[in-house]
Amino acid sequence: MKKHNFSAGPCILPEEVLQKASEAIINFNNDNLSLIEISHRSQPFVDVIENARSLVLELLGLQNKGYHALFLQGGASTQFLMTAYNLLNKKAAYLNTGTWSTKAIKEAKLFGELIEVASSKDKNFNYIPKNYEIPSDADYFHCTSNNTIYGTQMMEFPETEVPLVCDMSSDIFSRQLDFSKFDLIYAGAQKNMGPAGTTLVVVKEDILGKVERQIPSMLNYQVFIDKDSMFNTPPVFAVYTSMLTLEWLKDLGGIEFIEKVNNQKAALLYDEIDRNPLFKGVAAKEDRSKMNATFTLINPELQTQFDTMWKEANINGLSGHRSVGGYRASMYNALTLYSVQALVDVMKELERKA
Ligand SMILES: *Cc1c(COP(=O)(O)O)cnc(C)c1O
Repeated sequence: MKKHNFSAGPCILPEEVLQKASEAIINFNNDNLSLIEISHRSQPFVDVIENARSLVLELLGLQNKGYHALFLQGGASTQFLMTAYNLLNKKAAYLNTGTWSTKAIKEAKLFGELIEVASSKDKNFNYIPKNYEIPSDADYFHCTSNNTIYGTQMMEFPETEVPLVCDMSSDIFSRQLDFSKFDLIYAGAQKNMGPAGTTLVVVKEDILGKVERQIPSMLNYQVFIDKDSMFNTPPVFAVYTSMLTLEWLKDLGGIEFIEKVNNQKAALLYDEIDRNPLFKGVAAKEDRSKMNATFTLINPELQTQFDTMWKEANINGLSGHRSVGGYRASMYNALTLYSVQALVDVMKELERKA
């Protein structure tokens, strides 16, 4: 039986997506060739990437609004520098909410002045800073919508005149937002969309072309826009599998539908964390992530018993990140309510036995 997979990333994908993706490796489109051995310039693959790009804009409600969806490589980590390369002239403003934001700040510093508008480092990033000011002369403001490691999530985004850039790696397509407020969104595929190997970038074209420096082609958004996301060979398998997940999501009812399920899953688990006297949550309640729930055992001596129990219950990927410790249950789109119930059942059983 397939495990209840709470892995933080690479993460769970829908069974039917895995099935179709594996079939395409052997025989794609019934053409007796593998998806990964045909030309990326052939019509069957051009159809795939065009479908994937248009599904992204459709699901986010960004069609015909000047946005382009690109499937790039190098992970979200390359976007830490690519955003600055393309957008930072003199000065940029960053909100520091964890490891990933800190890394984005480090890379962007190579390109200009960095203003850290606020940071939650004082409490090991267990909350989202609020009431910060964004300098009006910044080239852009960068934030991380969901902090995968600490289990915090931004519920609100600042109203600002400056372009809004967001790392949505671990919560893209999980909840409804007014995505047209953002000028650039990026997300490594392996958290909520597909396998590792491609990074989704959704960029509003009119924010580009404003920096003075020369940009190498492989790091230039405009080059990829002009080439329909195929300046060079795209990661064909990652793009195809992402397309399958996007189709799966659309067929279910899109973000509107999945958000309801995600809310149910998060409520089920957080209610148990708060009710069960053996556990406590790590993140500040009002900033709790619906994707990654972090929690600890109040009595660490129960760890071995709990670890044995959840592993026996066919659960995978529950250990917390080394910088936080404890447990982290990642509840991405493809994880079912049934899997969260399996975890909650183990937590209740521990309470009875301990
Ligand atoms: C995982 C993650 C990253 C890093 O992604 P890579 O694709 O491994 O470079 C960046 N930001 C967030 C929010 C993440 O969860």
